[in-house]
Amino acid sequence: MQDRPNRDLSKSNAQFRRAVKRLPLGVSSTFRYWGDDRTVYVHHGKGGRTWDIDGNGYVDYRLGYGPAILGYADDRVDAAARKGMEVGGVFALSTEKELIVADRIAKMVPAAELVRFSNSGTEAVMAALRLARAFTGREEYLLVEGGYHGLFDAAMWMADMEGWTPGSNADPDVVPYGKGIPPTVKKLAHLVPMNDMQRLEDTFRKHGDRLAAMLIEPIQGNCCAIMARVEYVRLARELCDRYGVMLIIDEVKTGFRVGKGGIQGILGVKPDITTFAKAVANGYPIALVAGREDVMRTFRYGGASHGGTYTAHSVSLAAAEECLRILDETPALETLANHGTQLMAGISAILNARGIVHSYSGHPSMFGLFFDAAPPDNYRAWKASDYSFYDRMAHYLHDLGIIVEPDSREPWFMCEAHGLDATCLTDTLAAVERAVDLTLE
Ligand code: PLP
Repeated sequence: MQDRPNRDLSKSNAQFRRAVKRLPLGVSSTFRYWGDDRTVYVHHGKGGRTWDIDGNGYVDYRLGYGPAILGYADDRVDAAARKGMEVGGVFALSTEKELIVADRIAKMVPAAELVRFSNSGTEAVMAALRLARAFTGREEYLLVEGGYHGLFDAAMWMADMEGWTPGSNADPDVVPYGKGIPPTVKKLAHLVPMNDMQRLEDTFRKHGDRLAAMLIEPIQGNCCAIMARVEYVRLARELCDRYGVMLIIDEVKTGFRVGKGGIQGILGVKPDITTFAKAVANGYPIALVAGREDVMRTFRYGGASHGGTYTAHSVSLAAAEECLRILDETPALETLANHGTQLMAGISAILNARGIVHSYSGHPSMFGLFFDAAPPDNYRAWKASDYSFYDRMAHYLHDLGIIVEPDSREPWFMCEAHGLDATCLTDTLAAVERAVDLTLE
């Protein structure tokens, strides 16, 4: 029996007790609440590491759910953001920088013919869906099970796995992610399981003429990095063309992370509309909708309405200009993907030495780890799998100074700083080895 890691969270616990009196669950996003005695309050982050208010240091593989692509408090991006601060913030007018950043995006992602800035992933996807509806004159839309596209009502539907058994002919019910989402909205939404080609064809045959859009995350960044097969996304493209449906690829997590041209560049599939956020500005709040010129020009008076007080904020734009320059002109993306490759190899060596069957999904820059011989290829398969080993291991990893999501839903995210600091790899692998052994006990 090994000694249990003993992480001191006394200051975080005390902060929780104070915070919960003023902030629901003591946090500003429900997903940051990890239990009354395990909710962590951050002091600061730098590079690939985070420190909590008790002084515990962590190698951080959550990176704010992905945005810190270069690492926390990156000096280059922060210096640019400071200059952006001097510009003045928001004007209810436009600045020259918008075009500079949009040009860079169009260069990196050929499908981004025109660009419209937004503030968050939710806002960008909401605008993309409205754009698709305005362009097609249709209301219904198609979602892929396991996908997450933000907090707005239209996106918050999922397959209900309670009582559903694998192999069942019937589909699971479609239910909202939580209360407060009106059932009326459901009438417009259709859900399909990822990678089921026949089901996709059938759904288009049945509803294609009424669909405005199909939304897909080809690497499901909120479901263990489950991957769409290339032939599935190609079929989606083909069916969207056949039925006049807008293909929206949600690259809020994959964009400017898995490659300069995103997952669409890797798959070789050109969407009509793409949404980006997270990595655009290394964590400064900015997002965008981009796409086909004729579709994007629907953003106009009398067309699809879009705006926002904070859109194209001078601080975020300045940060985006510098972050995208680095991602485009330096080997940052290779550096972070190399770290991911080495990490996966190191974890595999530890697991193989103990005869533990496992597999990965996603991309070295954002991967999911499974304790099965092959990764699940859709949400139903993941829900039916046994992920309890992962969840227990994640718990130990926190105590040992590695931050990953407490359940296997979120992939591990890499940043450039991880790859530039060799101790991130050695510290992580040492902790994984101990966490695995503790989990096996
Ligand atoms: N789309 C995807 C694929 C996401 O992963 C997320 C957030 O995690 C969103 C949309 C919503 O983005 P935000 O949290 O910035 O509103």
